[in-house]
Amino acid sequence: MLADLFPDPMSASPAHPIDLAELDRPQIEQAVADLGVPRFHGTQVFQWIWARGVADFSRMTDLSQSLRTRLEERFRIATPAIETRQVSSDGTTKLLLRLEDGRHIEAVYIPDTPAQTFCVSTQVGCAMNCAFCLTGKMGLVRNLSAGEIAAQVRVLAHATGLGPSSFNIVLMGMGEPLHNYDATMKAIGILTDAKGLALHPKRITLSTVGVLPGLEKLAQEPLMPNLAISLHATTNEQRDQLVPVNRKYTLEDLIETCKRFPLAKRRRIMFEYVMLDGVNDTPEDARRLVRLLSGIKAKVNLLPLNEAAGIPFTRPADDRVNAFAQILVDHGLVVTVRRSRGRDIRAACGQLIVEGERRSAGQRLGTAL
Ligand code: SAH
Repeated sequence: MLADLFPDPMSASPAHPIDLAELDRPQIEQAVADLGVPRFHGTQVFQWIWARGVADFSRMTDLSQSLRTRLEERFRIATPAIETRQVSSDGTTKLLLRLEDGRHIEAVYIPDTPAQTFCVSTQVGCAMNCAFCLTGKMGLVRNLSAGEIAAQVRVLAHATGLGPSSFNIVLMGMGEPLHNYDATMKAIGILTDAKGLALHPKRITLSTVGVLPGLEKLAQEPLMPNLAISLHATTNEQRDQLVPVNRKYTLEDLIETCKRFPLAKRRRIMFEYVMLDGVNDTPEDARRLVRLLSGIKAKVNLLPLNEAAGIPFTRPADDRVNAFAQILVDHGLVVTVRRSRGRDIRAACGQLIVEGERRSAGQRLGTAL
């Protein structure tokens, strides 16, 4: 079971040569140097994969023919295959990707937000089981490896033709990134490596329900992405119902951890707040939210619910959303309302679900933590 959740890229057999897409730059340099050639050839291979998006050794034209042949014999570069591509009327594009073991994930390109944004998954399914999220209905099927997380960016860049400095990444697809901590951080390391895509960490946003041991570790990391917290409620009673991980890591502890979280100059923690009609969208909720966030460098992103069959909530009317936002603004908070994108192709927040995968190896909160 554990081996299934954490595929080990280094345990390669001749039939399954080592997957270089799973390795960070120093590891690729070492793996190539182990062939008895200078280390910089490993750097070149890393550049081909991550800076130029080339996953085929025969196209690595600055390497000798004999080295290319030896690389082919020893290594492979796994790249998820695009099984379907759906384009929304607003330009949002959702890719259904097939992984090497036949599992599926979704990755989304959201144009003009105003930036170009790639929304990337960190798990097949999710164990968090938030009451309003379709991905949660799948349970957790398995963690993605670092290579599988980072590869979504390679595939999206290729599919959209966008170059490295022209897109942002949000870890807001399927899965809970801090429930797959090591692979997520290794993927961030690969994506930010100066010899690869060289993405600035501030172009990456990690969104979490607040798995506190993960947040504590993240606070120590040298490479710090932007942080978004899926808050969604202002009392433990309510959050226990909406975001079940709250039963383990309470609202007070989450807020305390956010207060201590180190932030670079001019950066803020984004608090996401899904709006459910008549449930968490009253003026009292807004005022409680203001009190909770006082003393934190915060901004609030309101997410009017994306409705779906099987989700037992409705989206509030716009004037209710605006009234809620106004209370926050009146108390000095920076507030944005997330425009829902790609709803017609079920690519909006909380709508990612791969039908065939659900329940297969599903693990729900309770057993998973
Ligand atoms: N597991 C991480 C990453 C998911 S990010 C997290 O929870 O933060 C996706 C964001 O969309 C989260 O804030 C999530 O709570 C929110 N979301 C989930 N379902 C939604 C829905 N139906 N409508 C609007 N937002 C939703």
